[in-house]
Amino acid sequence: MDCQGKFGKTYSNPMDKKILIVGHGLAGCALAMTCYKRNIPFRLIGHTMPGEASMASSGLIAPITGRRYVKAWRIDEFLAKAKEFYHWTESLLGSSFFFPVEIVRYLPHQEGRMAWERRLDDPEYTEYISSKKYADLDQLGKPYGILTGGYRLETPGWIQAVRAFLATNGLFEELDEPYVTDPAYDGHVIYATGAVDPTFAERIIPNKGESLLVKMPGWHIKAAVKEEVFIMPLDIPDRFWIGSYYQPWPDDPFPSEEGKNRILGSISKVYREEVEVLAHMAGVRPTVNDRRPLIGSMPGHPGAFIFNGMGTKGTSLAPYWADQLISYIQGESMLPGEVLPDRYIPVERRD
Ligand SMILES: Cc1cc2nc3c(=O)[nH]c(=O)nc-3n(C[C@H](O)[C@H](O)[C@H](O)COP(=O)(O)OP(=O)(O)OC[C@H]3O[C@@H](n4cnc5c(N)ncnc54)[C@H](O)[C@@H]3O)c2cc1C
Repeated sequence: MDCQGKFGKTYSNPMDKKILIVGHGLAGCALAMTCYKRNIPFRLIGHTMPGEASMASSGLIAPITGRRYVKAWRIDEFLAKAKEFYHWTESLLGSSFFFPVEIVRYLPHQEGRMAWERRLDDPEYTEYISSKKYADLDQLGKPYGILTGGYRLETPGWIQAVRAFLATNGLFEELDEPYVTDPAYDGHVIYATGAVDPTFAERIIPNKGESLLVKMPGWHIKAAVKEEVFIMPLDIPDRFWIGSYYQPWPDDPFPSEEGKNRILGSISKVYREEVEVLAHMAGVRPTVNDRRPLIGSMPGHPGAFIFNGMGTKGTSLAPYWADQLISYIQGESMLPGEVLPDRYIPVERRD
């Protein structure tokens, strides 16, 4: 049976229904570009609100995390997809946004140094752990190791470029008001609305972070450095992104004087010269209790899907899971139980 979509197209197969993507942050933009790449009809809409996580992000993909230097969840697969996806968008957008980055990890304790040494000998970690040394770091007289294989997406720039590209092609509209469900719409709707609007964000724990864009002409370390805060070199000389702390269930999504002073206080412990603050951002991360994203059908809402819960790792998660969700909606593959939004609902009460 044919069905008429809101956008005037007649669909002979329900799988071909146009996809409406709500939310124009990293998650929504990754979904939109995935549909574009796969030639699947879609439209992206979004309303700009204070606290968009993507606009405060440094966009880092750190393959190795924690004090025991273990690989992040499924990082080999996610990174392979991220590289392919972001580089493909760069060729389409005509600009560079995705850069390799090395990360300095200080090894102040014997236990950490032993864990690092073990990883150096582990063939599973060859791509990500190195025994490189740099003169600038040697001068600091602190034991350190260099993580390799990381990447950084210049996230706000990439998002602005994606929005502009899609708008030019009639595929993106910036709304004056937040979208509310339209019962007359008979296509698929994907809610990629992050944590800033609780309407479609059940199970999402908002977690605020703040970051600064600064000028520090005396800081010469070319790699990203994890001190109390992250110091991330940008591709403009002397410019750095610095952040960020974690504040679950914040009172508001705005940058705060306290947040700024806290970051500057952390920097002053490792950099004695003047720091010129160029911008101060705040974003609310969409986190989930079990640290897995929420991806799949929206329980109790046929035709509606969630693409949320990217937490602290949206840059690596979004390209892979966007592709998986679109394949699921097209009826090509299933999603693993660990990301399904209904994983919190007892089995007997699921749809
Ligand atoms: C300070 C900070 C640093 C971070 N650093 C990193 C990092 O280094 N690496 C990393 O991978 N991740 C990092 N993150 C996390 C990353 O930013 C998130 O994982 C990711 O940006 C989430 O993207 P999103 O699109 O789901 O959410 P958002 O960016 O919040 O986007 C959601 C969008 O939907 C819109 N919207 C919401 N409701 C509606 C509605 N009803 N109608 C229309 N539009 C709506 C919002 O206005 C917003 O534009 C960081 C986050 C913060 C805050």
